[in-house]
Amino acid sequence: MSAHSVMSDLGSLSLENDDLESGDFEGVDLRRIEHAVREILAAVGEDPKREGLLQTPARVARMYAELFAGLRQDPAQHLQKWFMEKYDEVVLVRDISFESMCEHHLLPFMGRAHIGYMPDGRVVGLSKLARVVEIVARRPQVQERMTETIANLIETELNAKAVAVVIEATHTCMTVRGVRKPGSLCVTSAMKGVFRSNLSSRSEVMTLIYGDRR
Ligand SMILES: [Zn+2]
Repeated sequence: MSAHSVMSDLGSLSLENDDLESGDFEGVDLRRIEHAVREILAAVGEDPKREGLLQTPARVARMYAELFAGLRQDPAQHLQKWFMEKYDEVVLVRDISFESMCEHHLLPFMGRAHIGYMPDGRVVGLSKLARVVEIVARRPQVQERMTETIANLIETELNAKAVAVVIEATHTCMTVRGVRKPGSLCVTSAMKGVFRSNLSSRSEVMTLIYGDRR
């Protein structure tokens, strides 16, 4: 594209970048992100060659590689390390904090995920559920799909009798721009199995999730 040739003289600047952090950037075209960031800076009327902005494209490129690391990982693998346990009551992990990126604005949204499931023999370590949340979160996301994806993964991989996933998050695309409503909380839930079909099971798990907070 023509934009590429226009900006190519700036491309060499990033070669001087010596504060490369270690990290897993495999599969991410850092140079391409840097180029795009320079384009954005120029497009809004900034000077990408200005001292303070020289390292910004490279920094942003590494940041995106980190924020979207979940694209290069398979969350299901953490659920495949289950063990057999004769326990058929609700297992609940509350307040799993996460940060994700709204795919509509590429602005962060962050909050907490609560996961409850009723095992049918297969149980996973609690940290595995947190790993699943992290991997699914580190992708361009919408909260609704994130909630559904996590619930589906647990239902499928653990063959669980029931799954409840509730996510509460604040979206910076609603607080720093647009309608600017700081403090607003978006709550989504996905119910599977008896949590979906049986009202008393569902209210039981919701009570466990919200406990004394409501
Ligand atoms: Zn958004």
